Amino acid sequence: MNIKNKIVAVGIIALFLSCTTNPFTGNKTLALVSNSELFPTAFAQYDEFLTENKVITGTSDAEMIKRVGQRIAVAAERWLNANGHQGYLDDYKWEYNLVNDNTVNAWCMPGGKIVFYTGILPIAQNETGIAAIMGHEVAHALANHGQQRMSAGMLQQIGAVAGNVAIKDEQTRNIFNQAYGVGSQVGVMLPFSRSHETQSDEIGLYLMAIAGYNPAEAAELWKRMKANSGGEAPQEFLSTHPSNDTRIKNLTEWAPKAVAEAKKFGVDSFRPLGNF
Ligand SMILES: [Zn+2]
Repeated sequence: MNIKNKIVAVGIIALFLSCTTNPFTGNKTLALVSNSELFPTAFAQYDEFLTENKVITGTSDAEMIKRVGQRIAVAAERWLNANGHQGYLDDYKWEYNLVNDNTVNAWCMPGGKIVFYTGILPIAQNETGIAAIMGHEVAHALANHGQQRMSAGMLQQIGAVAGNVAIKDEQTRNIFNQAYGVGSQVGVMLPFSRSHETQSDEIGLYLMAIAGYNPAEAAELWKRMKANSGGEAPQEFLSTHPSNDTRIKNLTEWAPKAVAEAKKFGVDSFRPLGNF
């Protein structure tokens, strides 16, 4: 059943039925659209984004983004398998691209489609900084934060079109674009809510540590992010919620827990910071 038929068929009742469990928190979350329905839309939007932007290939920076991405993906899989979530990533098609753009941003679309902008590299400063950002972005995707936002958008549409026969394809696409911030405003990922940001900070910290990157560096990254954020437009990475100071404090507090978690996966020491 496609997305629009499903909406029409189940309507508001879906609220009580279409929930999925967040593997990281164990909480039920709203998911009016399943991954198998959502991912093809995300993959198409991602491909379109890549054709419309300047993808850098073959440089050491581009290779580093891929290398870190692969390690974070492996860490995610190991963590999920160890915690009883085998098969969670089956429909993922990981991809990691560096795009030539001065915007200070990075994002991960549903299904593991990642973009880093060259503008965030100076703030990342080293490979470990990239790993901190990568872990955070992948965490948003794994915890289905965008999917929840999209589901909320669908509920609004159901309200808006009550009595109409169906939500049109174009509307479905618009809901996706609104939820993910792609489309007309190219590549500007919308800020997530405070609780989603905090959750991704914590999950991202575990992922980077299991991938062999020192989680103590995440707080250092956010100090650099804070120093850079004056006067910039609000974006996913410059979001003021939670505040940079809260974020730095949390990450500093959680780092030892991430070190302990990594030990469970045989990671006893961390890679050098790396440079680029
Ligand atoms: Zn975020």
